Amino acid sequence: RRPPRPHRDLVYLRGDVPHREHNPSIRVMQWNILAQALGEGKDCFVRCPLDALQWHERKYLILEEILTYRPDVVCLQEVDHYYDTFQPIMASLGYHGSFLAKPSSPCLDVEQNNGPDGCALFHRRSRFHLQATAHLRLSAMMLPTNQVAIIQTLKCRVTGRRFCVAVTHLKARTGWERLRSAQGADLLRNLRRISEQREAPSAALPLVVCGDFNAKPSEDVYRHFSSSSLGLNSAYKLLSSDGEAEPAYTTWKIRPSGESCCTLDYIWYSHHTLSVDSLLDIPSEEQIGVERLPSYHYPSDHLSLLCDFSFKEDPHRLM
Ligand code: NDP
Ligand code: CA
Repeated sequence: RRPPRPHRDLVYLRGDVPHREHNPSIRVMQWNILAQALGEGKDCFVRCPLDALQWHERKYLILEEILTYRPDVVCLQEVDHYYDTFQPIMASLGYHGSFLAKPSSPCLDVEQNNGPDGCALFHRRSRFHLQATAHLRLSAMMLPTNQVAIIQTLKCRVTGRRFCVAVTHLKARTGWERLRSAQGADLLRNLRRISEQREAPSAALPLVVCGDFNAKPSEDVYRHFSSSSLGLNSAYKLLSSDGEAEPAYTTWKIRPSGESCCTLDYIWYSHHTLSVDSLLDIPSEEQIGVERLPSYHYPSDHLSLLCDFSFKEDPHRLM
């Protein structure tokens, strides 16, 4: 029996959030959408029917997932249909898009690929003024790697407040923990440099960092992010009863090597300057279904994460 498309509830963390006209929340989505070329040509999802992996089926499910929640900022990984699909469709819906391909994308090894995969960052034009974009190739031990990040500085048109948002996809697979850790350190260095504005170095801009870190919470790169001097917290921890535990999974798939169910995707935020109003809950095991992901009902092996932020009120803070 096919499970229905997972219905997910928004969990309000601070009770019923009153509608604040002067400080409405900013909705951010993080999602590794599964590159079309990798899903069909490399991943070997043994329980997912090949039919469910066809682009003309999957693209509507991906767009539906994004458009159902109408996020203000959308951070995607494994995008290999930017120019022919996501850029034009998102632009027609009022989003500005930016894309950065991996320098040597594994998609290019797949026959009949659609070009390299990479990270994409969209924001709603009516809500933000784009102030700066940085396209980064992440380094490790001074050497350039095959992983990238985009960092943008946005100014909210409602509050006049500025913040930086970043999207990244770190190196995958076990055995590469030290490379991930070095890539994370490089990203943190760049976030510090970009968020410390020249005009007011004492008041660094708030940060939102979305990514498929390919690292469980026990890894060094996770520890570096949670303990850095930037004051970052992982938003999805706030779903747990004590606010300290990550969800049990953000990806769940079955390959010939076995089943893999773990937490690899995160939304980090500056907890001194931003608060989390709500989070989209994680589908249950039953909702995901016995074939796991992807499936006819969910187009990626990674779940989307969705978080509503607002700026903490501080009348003394510089805009
Ligand atoms: P990664 O190891 O970071 O993984 C690339 C993709 O593979 C990710 O999107 C990842 O998905 C997915 N993946 C992870 N685990 C598996 C698995 N067990 N089976 C199938 N797919 C998996 O790749 P790199 O960026 O380091 O690139 C590696 C590839 O790129 C090489 O195979 C080569 O083809 C090419 N390359 C070529 C170079 C050159 O000089 N020609 C240099 C570097 C790379 P997820 O993140 O969801 O886990
Ligand atoms: Ca993948």
